[in-house]
Amino acid sequence: MARIRYCASCGARLPRNVSARRKYCDDVCRAQMYRDQRKADRIMGLAMMLADAEWNDDTGIIRLLTCPECGHITFAGGDRRRDAVYCSGRCRSRAWRRRTARRARREA
Ligand SMILES: [Zn+2]
Ligand SMILES: [Zn+2]
Repeated sequence: MARIRYCASCGARLPRNVSARRKYCDDVCRAQMYRDQRKADRIMGLAMMLADAEWNDDTGIIRLLTCPECGHITFAGGDRRRDAVYCSGRCRSRAWRRRTARRARREA
């Protein structure tokens, strides 16, 4: 007898005749799960790094940083400049471009 299985992403009950390897209702659920997992891994990695830094009394070097452009959680310090605000150069230049565009509109 087949055991009742549930989607690992949204928790919906899977049809009884799906293959045993199938874990999600559909690709949407699978993609969602993948994204959640990646995010969780990332936050976990950062948390561990922070714990490490704290252990070594390095809190001045590493601090959590939420990129105001894309909302990515990252950290400043280490090989980054301490006053870094954006998670990447791409976000920095995107924010910069938007600022300049706004200024240009104001002056027009
Ligand atoms: Zn699902
Ligand atoms: Zn960013």
